[in-house]
Amino acid sequence: MATVDNFFRSTGPARGGGVAVAAGLAAVVVFVLLRAAGSPTGVAAAAGLAAALAAVLALWPRGGAPSVAPGEVVEPSEPPYALVLESLSDPVLLVTDQGEEDGEPRLVFANAAARELLRLQRGGALLAAYIRNPRVLESLEEALHGRIESEAVFEEGGSLDRVWRAIAKPLHSEGVERLALLCMRDETDARRNERMRADFLANASHELRTPLASLAGFIETLRGHAKDDVAARDRFLAIMTQQAQRMSRLIDDLLSLSRIELNEHIAPAGDLDLGLAVADVLDALGPLAEERKVRIDTHAVRAGSAVIVGDRDQIIQVVQNLVDNAIKYAGEGGTVRIEVDGDVGIEAAARPTSGAVARLSLLTPDRGHELRYAALRVADSGPGIAREFLPRLSERFYRVEGQKGGQAGTGLGLAIVKHIVNRHRGGLVVESAEGEGAAFIAYFPRAGQG
Ligand code: ADP
Repeated sequence: MATVDNFFRSTGPARGGGVAVAAGLAAVVVFVLLRAAGSPTGVAAAAGLAAALAAVLALWPRGGAPSVAPGEVVEPSEPPYALVLESLSDPVLLVTDQGEEDGEPRLVFANAAARELLRLQRGGALLAAYIRNPRVLESLEEALHGRIESEAVFEEGGSLDRVWRAIAKPLHSEGVERLALLCMRDETDARRNERMRADFLANASHELRTPLASLAGFIETLRGHAKDDVAARDRFLAIMTQQAQRMSRLIDDLLSLSRIELNEHIAPAGDLDLGLAVADVLDALGPLAEERKVRIDTHAVRAGSAVIVGDRDQIIQVVQNLVDNAIKYAGEGGTVRIEVDGDVGIEAAARPTSGAVARLSLLTPDRGHELRYAALRVADSGPGIAREFLPRLSERFYRVEGQKGGQAGTGLGLAIVKHIVNRHRGGLVVESAEGEGAAFIAYFPRAGQG
């Protein structure tokens, strides 16, 4: 009841006569609409029906304060059907092919969402002038003449490329034999998710199949002609170990991505010091940097001045993935520079590190300008990334083509980073230019801001 109460309090007329009058008018409109659709001169009259509906809605006082005592429950004698139809966010149309000699289906009613979708200006319009998709027209035909419910999925072009499901239902009404309701449902997001899931599965299987095929090949060789070749066996076993490790990395990354996604809507609890998280990761990755002959310069804030709200393991994973990439792509003799800014606004958090590079925000927080952030920047002296590849960087399995050392990675590291940063309501920026290294900036809301 709470919703109905609120609805009537905020949009309804003064209690009593007003509700009855408006509901009565709505009923009259529906009645006239049905009659009009059936009478020979009806379709012409129906042209004014959308306007009549608008008049009913206009009569329905919106701003006037209802004389309802606080806490009192309003029970309308009848719901305002016209207003309900008009306010539905899904497009709804009423169609008949009776009333005009040409027998063409015409619109006798369209709610606001339908008028906006079809850019409809007047009632009584020929349906075919607004809906050209043959499958939708066929469904309507079936509803009008076959008296059966039928559906059609169609795509609306334009810049947004939306996918709609149109459901045509025959309406049973006295005096009108052929009347159909056409409801549209926007299925764009569901379709996009379906496609993403299918792509993800195809990519994941492909990524796993490659090392698996290689393992199977080596097993065959070792059982066959390399059976007694000790040198070859050692070499093959070393490659097999690498492939098995790759598969296990992939599975670990996939599991970790799925875990992060499951919790993404739950804001993290607990505080941690970003500077200390960086120090921990550097302790762990120091030997790798040494082995690769990469110099690491750090510019960290003093302990306790970059405290963020965060899940420690996940923040460590962000730092680790970014620093790991920087070491990997900096290459032998390269340098990695790591900075932590303890208390900055969003502009400063995402400030450019150098002048002449391309920058892109891979993730921007919703409440960006209200909050203060702690920012981590990881810059390397590696090959960098060309401007055209930047937008795809945090896509799963995406790797920049032709990059040295890139094939060894899983292509999931930055996707994991982006999802973790998103869960922490933070932001992620990349800046780079081919041949001039790359920098990734991840920033997180400081603790204690509510
Ligand atoms: P990977 O495990 O392949 O490194 P990521 O998701 O971490 O996966 O990175 C995706 C792709 O982005 C990499 O394959 C690489 O092409 C590019 N990339 C990431 N970090 C850097 C960097 N610091 N320098 C150059 N290219 C990078």
